[in-house]
Amino acid sequence: MKTNTKFILLIAASALAAIAATRISAASKPQAKSGVDRLYVIDCGDGSGPDESRWTPGANVGIPVGFPGHCYLIHHTQGWFLWDTGVDDAVAKLPHHELVLHEWGPGTGPIWRKPITLAAQLEEIHVKPSDIKLMAVSHSHPDHAGNIEMFPNTLMLVQRVEYEWAGSRQDTVAFNKNHPVKLVDGDYDIFGDGSLVLLSTPGHTPGHQSLLVRLPKTGPVILSGDVAHFQTSFDHRYVPSNNWNKQASLESMDKIAAILAKEHAQLWINHDQAQSDAQKKLPAFYE
Ligand SMILES: [Zn+2]
Repeated sequence: MKTNTKFILLIAASALAAIAATRISAASKPQAKSGVDRLYVIDCGDGSGPDESRWTPGANVGIPVGFPGHCYLIHHTQGWFLWDTGVDDAVAKLPHHELVLHEWGPGTGPIWRKPITLAAQLEEIHVKPSDIKLMAVSHSHPDHAGNIEMFPNTLMLVQRVEYEWAGSRQDTVAFNKNHPVKLVDGDYDIFGDGSLVLLSTPGHTPGHQSLLVRLPKTGPVILSGDVAHFQTSFDHRYVPSNNWNKQASLESMDKIAAILAKEHAQLWINHDQAQSDAQKKLPAFYE
């Protein structure tokens, strides 16, 4: 009996040691090689409005708000991929580089400013529009889908429901039906290596999508489009008033939260000012 107990303890100790060794080797083992090697954060328009509570109902009522907008250019061993195309570069030619909207009535904004164009920023790093192999927009709102036809030959990945819905409302960009497109239904691993994964996150619009990027040094990042407009919106589950389906938006925020936890990923929110201020911008990049 005594020997048996010792034997059992020995077996148990060996098993624990083996588990610990496995954990240590898994933690110290380099990640499976990601095909992505760099990501540029691009200034794609600055927005502002007289009342933050349009985006955060019940909070910050009547407080003016500023919010940047971004595009993201990602290099994969199989080619360049562009995520979101930003406010139309044509806005840069308007008086004060400004496009004034009245989404909730006269004087309600938002106002979009475009002092620097997407085209100029791509030029700065010597990337031609024709070099970009694939692109996707998070959704069809004009501050995310404004320059698609700058890339007439680039295959666009879009959720089928977004493709069909876009253009049915005035505040959306209708997709050019001649543009090469791949329609996607749900989550989609773009290069099949897990380095760039489209995540279906409907709610803000019917076919809104986000992007999981596995960067080799920075680690996994989720580019969440307008799942939430600001970090505070994500933390408090604020759903803006210009939204397609509140319940779906809340479920998408929960989906993102679960992936963040599982992947130990960072959440990069397109319009969050504090995050943007802390990020490196093109020509600097993340690896
Ligand atoms: Zn939007």
